[in-house]
Amino acid sequence: MRVKLMGVRGTVPVHGAGCVEFGGATSCVFVDAGDEPIVLDAGTGLLTQPLRPFFPDGKLTLLLTHSHADHIIGLPIFPPLFDPSFRCDIYLRTRNSLSAREQVEQLMSPPLWPVTTAAAKAELDFRDVEPSFDIGAVRVDTMESKHPGGSTIYRISRGEKSLVYATDYEPESDAPEDFCEFARGCSLLLIDAQYTDGEYATARGFGHSTVTRSAAIAKNCGAQRTVFVHHDPRHSDTKLLELEREIQKLCPTVSFGREGEEIYL
Ligand SMILES: [Zn+2]
Ligand SMILES: [Zn+2]
Repeated sequence: MRVKLMGVRGTVPVHGAGCVEFGGATSCVFVDAGDEPIVLDAGTGLLTQPLRPFFPDGKLTLLLTHSHADHIIGLPIFPPLFDPSFRCDIYLRTRNSLSAREQVEQLMSPPLWPVTTAAAKAELDFRDVEPSFDIGAVRVDTMESKHPGGSTIYRISRGEKSLVYATDYEPESDAPEDFCEFARGCSLLLIDAQYTDGEYATARGFGHSTVTRSAAIAKNCGAQRTVFVHHDPRHSDTKLLELEREIQKLCPTVSFGREGEEIYL
């Protein structure tokens, strides 16, 4: 399984000299698990590199965690959307009584956006998220995150290899039973670690985890490797490198994700 981090910034995209190492694009992860290409979330990371070479058959599956803007804002100007030969299955759990299609349409409609989904030339198939389903030979399991308005945590497995994507997640302890059970022994854990402990004191309830808590969870669920995502937009490269150095003293299998980084499982 090949995993490429297309965007690892949380909340809003950032740019400039302070985000050269880790990048400034928001949530997007490309997964090549052998046959059907999968993309997790459609933040601005969806636009950072030409994705089309990754899906030569013109078919892509998009697994969206939730419809907060930093996770779907790349979609309205994703070039394949306007290509009639492109097919995309878009999974997004019904929330606030809005279906997957309605949530995307809410973003892609005036006054928020000038171009509606009706202008898309691609074949789009919107789907609700079931607890478990298959995409070709890939198994997808899900659990509900603890996040304002909800968010979906995905586990993508093929054979012995598995990836857990847990962004926008505010765990209540260092060993949340349901999550540790869900992520147990995964090959790669991508987990939200937006805040320092100091920042969390004023950010409780915002729906994100901390560096120390997510490192503890990584240990407690037995993840073989852990990469932090959803970096706080206020954290410069210098700050992220400092946080990474500190946490690696306690947990050497943890690192902070870099935009463009490829991980092979
Ligand atoms: Zn987010
Ligand atoms: Zn969110």
